[in-house]
Amino acid sequence: ERLVGADADGEDQAVESALRPKNLDEFVGQPKVREQLDLVLRAARARGGTADHVLLSGAPGLGKTTLAMIVAAEMGAPIRITSGPAIQHAGDLAAILSSLTEGEVLFLDEIHRMSRPAEEMLYMAMEDFRVDVIVGKGPGATAIPLELPPFTLVGATTRAGLLPPPLRDRFGFTGHMEFYEPAELERVIHRSAHLLDVETDPEGAAEIAGRSRGTPRIANRLLRRVRDYAQVKADGVITREIAAAALGVYEVDARGLDRLDRAVLGALLKLFGGGPVGLSTLSVAVGEERETVEEVAEPFLVREGLLARTPRGRVATPAAWAHLGLAPPRQNGG
Ligand code: ATP
Repeated sequence: ERLVGADADGEDQAVESALRPKNLDEFVGQPKVREQLDLVLRAARARGGTADHVLLSGAPGLGKTTLAMIVAAEMGAPIRITSGPAIQHAGDLAAILSSLTEGEVLFLDEIHRMSRPAEEMLYMAMEDFRVDVIVGKGPGATAIPLELPPFTLVGATTRAGLLPPPLRDRFGFTGHMEFYEPAELERVIHRSAHLLDVETDPEGAAEIAGRSRGTPRIANRLLRRVRDYAQVKADGVITREIAAAALGVYEVDARGLDRLDRAVLGALLKLFGGGPVGLSTLSVAVGEERETVEEVAEPFLVREGLLARTPRGRVATPAAWAHLGLAPPRQNGG
């Protein structure tokens, strides 16, 4: 488990519900999505009806589950939570849909990973609040139509582009979640620190925010590790020095890179003069699988503008040299 990984680990799952904002006002950042969703929900409430289906796209840990729960809370409706991979057969989906109550919110995480037959059943359910349940097999099979109460589907996906257009088109509203700005993460950290009853000064929160890779889940996780350190090694108050020292122990640097990220970048700079070098060669040099380098380390390095993937191989940017405190090689004739 990586401390700076964006997927939820066991500890996250145990504490996240306590840290989740309960309504749109408490939800930090994402001003566009918040404003648009606010309108959708207000309009639905004014009509006394059910909210349109909502699609949320964005990287893990940015708050999609949290927003789905907020949709339910703001509509005063119950919520059912499931995920695409959990729905293997259309029958699984039919069972869930037919047990929904009027106005209920159905949260379908990783909606792009649903099976094809389930997806087709979902089209009809979203549009007409109806499903055809197939009874029997072979030539004797019959489709029995089943009316559903109106419900709101909140679908979540890492990329809206992964969804087949007919599914995408059936959502009334699509919100694109962005990575958070450092100032927004500072607010998330202050809010969580308050809920966890830890004292954090503004510089301490800023230090954690800068290492959180734009992701609230990571910010909350780093906050917990820094809290432990502050309690064991100091008087419990999180200052800039305490945050930096604590995250130094966990090898998360000032920009949120961890040991693996720095190993990849370090090899690229020190062994290959900044590239270009092929992915396989780079991976062997770091002693990691190709997939680990490509899928675990590189996306963040690319996003941070430290590494570029080019047709000729991986190349370090000037910022990479600066970040590791190394001087770039002199250009020919320079
Ligand atoms: P995944 O796709 O991996 O399930 P997610 O996008 O659904 O991730 P959440 O589970 O909603 O992410 O959020 C992760 C954690 O980050 C939660 O503990 C939540 O409290 C916190 N969080 C997310 N967004 C915000 C926000 N805007 N303000 C405050 N806290 C937030």
